Amino acid sequence: MRIDPEKCIGCGSCKPYCTMWGGVMHFERDRKNPTRIFYVIDEDECVECSVCLRSGCCPVEALYQPPLEWPRIVRKNFSDPLKIHPETRIPGRGTEEMKTNEVTGRYRLGKYGMAFELGRPGAGARFYDVEKVARALSTLQVDFEENNPVTKLMVDRKKGLINPEVLNEKVLSAIVEFMAPVEKLPEVLEVLDRVSQEIDTVFSGDIISRVGRDGSVPYIKVLQDRNRFLSINGKSNVGLGRPLSALE
Ligand code: SF4
Ligand code: SF4
Repeated sequence: MRIDPEKCIGCGSCKPYCTMWGGVMHFERDRKNPTRIFYVIDEDECVECSVCLRSGCCPVEALYQPPLEWPRIVRKNFSDPLKIHPETRIPGRGTEEMKTNEVTGRYRLGKYGMAFELGRPGAGARFYDVEKVARALSTLQVDFEENNPVTKLMVDRKKGLINPEVLNEKVLSAIVEFMAPVEKLPEVLEVLDRVSQEIDTVFSGDIISRVGRDGSVPYIKVLQDRNRFLSINGKSNVGLGRPLSALE
């Protein structure tokens, strides 16, 4: 995103709308007319979410979107909530099966899915940090989800390597999504504990699984043994396991 310095009147109205909490915007003085100020966007920190532009907050239409080339376009693909990801053809950063409506039978008994989410508004995430997580998980031979946008950026899934051209790109958030057998969960948690010390942003972990026939949650003891808590805003996936119910 850019601001046209000739149009900008320096009112600052755009700053509160920025998903990076305004940290990417600062004002400068007009050298020819020091009483006049205008705002500038730090393009290295801007995640191209377009929230400022879409808000219609600018009274003089100084905000504008220049054409985005590769690799910068990945910022928009991951950060603009209205953008359909060109490779997965779904909006957002995780797959629909993982988030809300699993009707494909992906999550079978004895397996669980996990989403390790890096970045949030105000913080964002760089792909070099996303790659650290993917590389660490690859040592456990987890199955990275084919239709996840981060997986699509990998050049070597066995090693969790992401296309080097995008490593310095910053996005609002990105999700490393994978499947593993339930018995691997302790190792996965250990690896995530370790790698979380090496990344320079906030993160959260989601676990997706079917509930047992008796209503039990298969991984809950593993979490409790490690003093983890289950968030009260956990989601109920409306379709989880439905097509396979006759098989298992
Ligand atoms: S596009 Fe997003 S990150 Fe960039 S300046 Fe606008 S609101 Fe901030
Ligand atoms: S809202 Fe428009 S005029 Fe005001 S500081 Fe932002 S870009 Fe400049």
